[in-house]
Amino acid sequence: MAIIRDGMQPFDLYQPTSVEDALTLADRLGADAWMLAGGLDSLERFKDRLKRPKAVIDLGRVEELRGVRREGEDLVIGSMTTLTEVNRDPEIRARFGLLAEAAGEVASPQIRNQGTLGGNISQDTRCWYYRGGWQCYRAGGGTCYAGESTQGQNREHALFGVEGCAAVSPSDTAPALIALEARLVIKSAKGAREVAVEDYFVGPDTDITRMNVLGTGEVLTEIRLPATWAGVTFYFEKVRDRPVWDFPLVNIAAAMQLSGDRIDRARFVLGAVAARPWRLPQVEAAVAGRARNAAVDAAARLAADGAVPLPQNGYKVALVRNLVKRAILGKTTS
Ligand SMILES: Cc1cc2nc3c(=O)[nH]c(=O)nc-3n(C[C@H](O)[C@H](O)[C@H](O)COP(=O)(O)OP(=O)(O)OC[C@H]3O[C@@H](n4cnc5c(N)ncnc54)[C@H](O)[C@@H]3O)c2cc1C
Ligand code: SF4
Repeated sequence: MAIIRDGMQPFDLYQPTSVEDALTLADRLGADAWMLAGGLDSLERFKDRLKRPKAVIDLGRVEELRGVRREGEDLVIGSMTTLTEVNRDPEIRARFGLLAEAAGEVASPQIRNQGTLGGNISQDTRCWYYRGGWQCYRAGGGTCYAGESTQGQNREHALFGVEGCAAVSPSDTAPALIALEARLVIKSAKGAREVAVEDYFVGPDTDITRMNVLGTGEVLTEIRLPATWAGVTFYFEKVRDRPVWDFPLVNIAAAMQLSGDRIDRARFVLGAVAARPWRLPQVEAAVAGRARNAAVDAAARLAADGAVPLPQNGYKVALVRNLVKRAILGKTTS
């Protein structure tokens, strides 16, 4: 077990000033290189010596990866745009307030000033066994300390999709981006690909050692918000132990197109209940075409369908049901 704090292994630091140079470097350095954004997740891993990259490519000087711009009806956000910038941007606030709110709920002002949107959705899980250097399945070992040991501490762990690993996606912005049907642009020296943000995240059923589809040599460059959900009714709520600093115990992001009180169409996405953000298609189908009040009870019942609580996280089932209710009714207090 590695519990060496504040002792980074030396590495070669590269500070490109263009995407093209970053991709050339990434191609040349291959699996030896680590992409550095705000560094909040990365440096913690380096200091604990759980990740020991030979080379680090710092994207902090690549201006073209920063900022928010309009392209037709799409809003394009550079991956290195900070969470504070996302929270304050007037156009994001006006059209996609759900994302602005989610970004504003991340941790503390200092962390939002440093952390980037690209880094926030690409960060690793916070499962303390894994972060503490225990050789669990996700770390390449032979057990899950959180889920398989009778003494496992699993209060913050997953309700859904536990296939060997019960770690959760800790991101506050990822559920909002899925509700908004964002698309991600990923580049490498070989070219560019665009993926729906929903397909960016990887559960343990697909690959227990990773949280997203980023491959060696790839850089996430843009987050694109289509007009599909611009200006509809949004709801974001995050439940956590303390009002600042804390990662979500459960969060919810919802987008609803309303006609009066009737829900024409909706997206509901939970965070911190599975290794990837967890969309609720059964709830979306149940509320479509119904009045908010009429839809709420059936939706709440369906919300936790498929949940398999661990010994210490059964409270999340009640949270999930209540958050779905509150999202439908637009309430921030019960
Ligand atoms: C004390 C603390 C509390 C926090 N609380 C919360 C919280 O409540 N909610 C929440 O959502 N988050 C929280 N975070 C996470 C934080 O907000 C950061 O968003 C997150 O750590 C990563 O962002 P970063 O920009 O620092 O990325 P980094 O740490 O630099 O990178 C994170 C990962 O993404 C990869 N990466 C980043 N950008 C790119 C890119 N453009 N292309 C390819 N790969 C990339 C890196 O290689 C690395 O693997 C917290 C962090 C800390 C330290
Ligand atoms: S939940 Fe996942 S990351 Fe945590 S100990 Fe189990 S296998 Fe490891």
